[in-house]
Amino acid sequence: MREYQAMAYAKINLGLDVVRRLENGYHQVKMVMQSIGLGDQLTLEMAGCGITITTDAPGLPTDRSNLIHKAASLMFETYGIHSGIRVHLRKEIPMAAGMAGGSTDAAAVMKGINELFRLGLPLSRLMEDGVAIGADVPYCILGGTALAEGIGERLTALPPMPDCHILVAKPRAEVSTKYVYEHLDAQGLTAHPDIDGMVQAIRQGDLQGITGRMENVLETVTVPAHPVIADLKGRMLESGAENSLMSGSGPTVFGIFSEEEKARAAYARLREENLADRLFLTEPCRNAD
Ligand code: ATP
Repeated sequence: MREYQAMAYAKINLGLDVVRRLENGYHQVKMVMQSIGLGDQLTLEMAGCGITITTDAPGLPTDRSNLIHKAASLMFETYGIHSGIRVHLRKEIPMAAGMAGGSTDAAAVMKGINELFRLGLPLSRLMEDGVAIGADVPYCILGGTALAEGIGERLTALPPMPDCHILVAKPRAEVSTKYVYEHLDAQGLTAHPDIDGMVQAIRQGDLQGITGRMENVLETVTVPAHPVIADLKGRMLESGAENSLMSGSGPTVFGIFSEEEKARAAYARLREENLADRLFLTEPCRNAD
């Protein structure tokens, strides 16, 4: 094999709680992660030497700062690979949007190198290695529905969430994850999402039990700074979503619909109102292959 094609799926957070701020500046979190059928396409090719990245995404650096580069060098150094690789990225996932776009690319590259160079490493090993690139990388390697604890790297795989339709809307606002966590008053949070209840609802295949518990404490920082998030959530609820929430540190908003027709009507309405620059109608994804 000289070439490997991989899909890198985006994630949403069905629930996101921050338990406390750690002394090293990281935050202890408790989140329910869900892969969705929106993803970047990566083509990996063996090459003479070095790591070369090309992409169709305007403005995305292709140097060492790209998480694809970090993932490839980590694999090459850890497993003593001396040849090179070319990676082409077709970017579909909105950037700096709260959907782990960079982390999922890194995860796909780690899995791709494992296949391309026939390393035969189990996913659990890649997940252990991946945390050195970012806290969300182990989850992106696992994919599907999962509970993430610790800094996001301690994972419990959950049964797939019940079938539903997911409307994803990315407003024009740019949000930095670092800014949101730095401005979060973790100690001052008065309400915490019922993540345990949501996990139980997932185990029971109870869609309304899940959607009734959708909460994200990072909304306390991002929503006041970008009121369009509240507007999008309101529109989705008016259009018949079971519930609607900001994903990760935002600004992406998603709505969960049990009826496809309502999801389509909501898509059409949001498209007309032009509150979002990117809109996707998709479904949960079982695992990020
Ligand atoms: P998260 O949900 O993990 O907070 P995000 O969706 O908010 O992530 P990303 O799209 O992962 O944010 O990217 C954030 C920054 O990381 C971008 O501004 C970009 O410069 C940098 N970056 C590095 N590599 C990549 C990549 N392969 N894809 C996207 N962004 C990347």
